[in-house]
Amino acid sequence: MNDDCVFCAIAAGESPSRTIYEDDRTVAFLDISPVTRGHTLVIPRRHADDIWDVEEDEAAAVMRTATRVAELLRDALQPEGCNLFQATRAIAGQTVFHLHLHVLPRYDVSELQVALGERSASAADLDAVVEELNANHSGRAGT
Ligand code: AMP
Ligand code: ZN
Repeated sequence: MNDDCVFCAIAAGESPSRTIYEDDRTVAFLDISPVTRGHTLVIPRRHADDIWDVEEDEAAAVMRTATRVAELLRDALQPEGCNLFQATRAIAGQTVFHLHLHVLPRYDVSELQVALGERSASAADLDAVVEELNANHSGRAGT
């Protein structure tokens, strides 16, 4: 547990939350400032800063819980769709530095802008990315 982390405090039951699902590895609770009705955050109980810090099996447990939560939200609130979102580091919009996956039920296209922007990559650009990735297997690449 990270003493100055609000999500660690929620996982430990030391800070209030509207928890809608929990198991031995993960907790899911309503976002205090929801973008859509039922907006939920799924976290690993064990502190990890972000996607570059988390153990793979913890990340898998978070995804399993997000799947269950999406189903719970669908059945209870009847959204028409759902977005999953995760921000790693401030550049990507992260504001709480304990890994969390947003589960966002969707009712209306205008309630949330999911804009990936203009696309300009050529086939050569894409091939160059694949080459760089293949040349650098230092990370977690499985093969
Ligand atoms: P992010 O910008 O991806 O780091 O998202 C952080 C999210 O945590 C925001 O949507 C906040 O509204 C939410 N949040 C911050 N503090 C709390 C809290 N104590 N309980 C529930 N949600 C929180
Ligand atoms: Zn934490």
